[in-house]
Amino acid sequence: MQSKELLFVNKTSVGERYVTVALADRISFNNAPISPEVAQRFLELVGAGNVCIEFSARKTRCRWGTAYKKKGRIVLYRHSVWMLLHELAHIQAPAGAKHSRVFARVLDGLFAKWQQATGAAGAKGGL
Ligand SMILES: [Zn+2]
Repeated sequence: MQSKELLFVNKTSVGERYVTVALADRISFNNAPISPEVAQRFLELVGAGNVCIEFSARKTRCRWGTAYKKKGRIVLYRHSVWMLLHELAHIQAPAGAKHSRVFARVLDGLFAKWQQATGAAGAKGGL
């Protein structure tokens, strides 16, 4: 499925109180579209190739993504780089971490890996 156009939002996901990535970067990455192919390559790069990811065409205002940790499954309603990183952090953080500091460290680490993988291209870069 082709990625849908992203409607620009001047905000990022909820529950990122402890994340150290700058808000401007989070917003930028939340407005950076990601394709299923690039998402899959990133999952494999971070050792999460077994995670199943669904790019839902459903439009929701209140929810941009969902992670099913036990099933190893992510559903993205907002097809952005940031939402992939956020939901993947839920999968990789220990059970029960929710939006804790532990979750934030995992998300910070995934952001760093994304940057390493895309180099100077950052939010706009594919893999
Ligand atoms: Zn969350």
